[in-house]
Amino acid sequence: MITYRRILILVSFVTGLIFLLATAYFVRQGERRNTQELHAEILALRTTFEVQLAELERNLVNLAQILASEPELIRLMARVAALPHSADGSGRGETFPAIQEDLRTVLEPRWQVLRDEQGIRQLQLVTPDLISVLRLHAPGEHGDALGQFRLLLETTARERVTQSGFEIGRAFAGLRGAVPVMAHQADAPPKLVGLIELGALLDGSIDRLTRSTGVGYGVLLNPNAVSATMWDAFKPPRSHQDHSCCFLLAHSRPELRQWIQEGRLAPFNAPYQIERMHAGGRYFDLLRVPLQDFQAELDPGRGPVGALTIWRDVTPSLKALRSAQEEKILSGLAGFLLVQGLILGVAHLSRREWRAQLLAQTHEISQLAQRNEVLLMTAEEGIYGVDLEGHTSFINTSALRMLGFRQDEIEGKRQHLLFHHSHHDGQPYPETECPIAKTLKDGLVRRQEEWFIRRDGSGFPVELTCAPLIEDGRLNGAVVVFHDISENKRREEALVALANTDALTGVANRRHFLERLQAELGRVSRHATQASLLMIDLDHFKQVNDNFGHATGDEVLRNLAALSRQTLRHSDVIGRLGGEEFAALLPDDDAVSAMQTAERLRKALETHPVRTADGTAVTVTASIGVTRLRPDDRKPETPLGRADNALYQAKNEGRNRVMLHPSDIVPPEGA
Ligand code: GH3
Ligand code: MG
Ligand code: MG
Repeated sequence: MITYRRILILVSFVTGLIFLLATAYFVRQGERRNTQELHAEILALRTTFEVQLAELERNLVNLAQILASEPELIRLMARVAALPHSADGSGRGETFPAIQEDLRTVLEPRWQVLRDEQGIRQLQLVTPDLISVLRLHAPGEHGDALGQFRLLLETTARERVTQSGFEIGRAFAGLRGAVPVMAHQADAPPKLVGLIELGALLDGSIDRLTRSTGVGYGVLLNPNAVSATMWDAFKPPRSHQDHSCCFLLAHSRPELRQWIQEGRLAPFNAPYQIERMHAGGRYFDLLRVPLQDFQAELDPGRGPVGALTIWRDVTPSLKALRSAQEEKILSGLAGFLLVQGLILGVAHLSRREWRAQLLAQTHEISQLAQRNEVLLMTAEEGIYGVDLEGHTSFINTSALRMLGFRQDEIEGKRQHLLFHHSHHDGQPYPETECPIAKTLKDGLVRRQEEWFIRRDGSGFPVELTCAPLIEDGRLNGAVVVFHDISENKRREEALVALANTDALTGVANRRHFLERLQAELGRVSRHATQASLLMIDLDHFKQVNDNFGHATGDEVLRNLAALSRQTLRHSDVIGRLGGEEFAALLPDDDAVSAMQTAERLRKALETHPVRTADGTAVTVTASIGVTRLRPDDRKPETPLGRADNALYQAKNEGRNRVMLHPSDIVPPEGA
């Protein structure tokens, strides 16, 4: 039962594990695919951002070029360039403010359009030696030298070619485009009379992008790339920014500022980086890609000055993912429960079936065992089992009754030593010759007569069957079945006796007497021993019958038999050969002692009359012929013939006498 339960638990565990692993695998796959998709999308947005910036940059340059090709502007700038130099521009003479005013007049309408419609935040004019002439975005500030701060302007002045790019200045960081203002002369090459520069903050374009895409855009600058002036004076002031991570230059959605303030953005230096951020219950994927400034375009060894940042609300995508994942988990769970249910159902059914079979079989076995027990205990036969060592393993009631032992006196003991140790005649019976021991060796069935000894020492004959006990194909002992055959033996003996006896007188009948005589002849011829034969015949017996009746005649015959038994030895054999003719076989008697015995018998008969019913004494005599058995007597007829001759002689000589056959008469010594 425990094993069954354990197997069930193990199977359930393994099934659960398989489902768990499969579900985890599919969930993980879904997550990975989702992340890949989100990353691919945000990387595509980066391209949009970069294209947008490039567009803005190109636009700046185009606008600056349009302005730079304005003849009035060229003329005025040429006039400025022609003024005497002064480091701060203040000493440019009385005409400078007037020219400056003319320039402002020319540019003001355009500036307003550029500022309001194109998102331009900076428009300045610079002399070829990089002195600020006019700032449309800051009308009061001019005359300062920009050479050492502004690589873009310096490069434009030196190369006399349009330059553009991202540049961080003292008080402004953004995209800039600088165009040389060239005055064309009739007979000389064009002359550089100044530079015109347009600058744009990134706010406008990223706001536009956010409006069209819903994605957050931002520009972060590395703290060390930003001047102290900018930290303090950049408008609007951003003094509250966290200095450690980055300078937030522009952003189109508020989350970026929050993340910076919370210190959740680590310094950035990878080629690109995607992080998952959480704000206001929503999830964002935040991408940072390096931002190269103008200087880095000239000197590729210089690292990025900051990062372009894109963040995208991935909450719906994650929600969809989560519900898809939940669906996967639920279907995994449902699959597991289904399979588990099936397993349990099948297990339950097969267990019920198995149990029913077991119960039926157990019932059958117990019935069989009961029947066997009853058979064993009620059988007439004695039944017992022995193990391979000859110890009694079980024994039934009949066997105990026949042997007179108690169960505990036999079980576990060696049966041969206990009740099978001697033969009928008391000779010891070696165990090696015991049929049971032989069966334990060769596994053969044996059936034979044996002699068992009871607890009280008396013995009895048994017919015994000994069969091997084969268990699981191996000889494991033997079963012995026996029954007491004493009664059979007795009946058999009685039958034999009856068959050999004369019914009237109780002496041996003719057939049996002849058998005994034949046997004695064999003995005499083999061992040359002595033996004699008497032939007895009643005298005038017919007259007894005639005078006293047949019954008295029978009584006379019985009287002769009784007297013979009394006179002869126990080992002598008396037989009735027929009618009133008897014979006696006297083993070990020579002719002389046979004659004496015969004479004793004759006298006994003569002196023992029988009485009739009315009390009359009837005396009957007998004549007896005697002969000695000889080694050359082959058949009973031979000595019987001689005895008969002697008897004939006795009759002839007057009856009631004993005669020895003449050939047996030994002449007296000396005769
Ligand atoms: P003998 O002296 O010459 O022997 O004369 P006997 O009268 O005895 O003559 P015999 O031996 O020829 O007679 C035998 C008689 O024995 C014949 C028969 O009537 C009688 N007899 C034979 N068997 C039985 C028997 O079983 N019972 C009785 N009562 N008589 C028998
Ligand atoms: Mg006769
Ligand atoms: Mg006779």
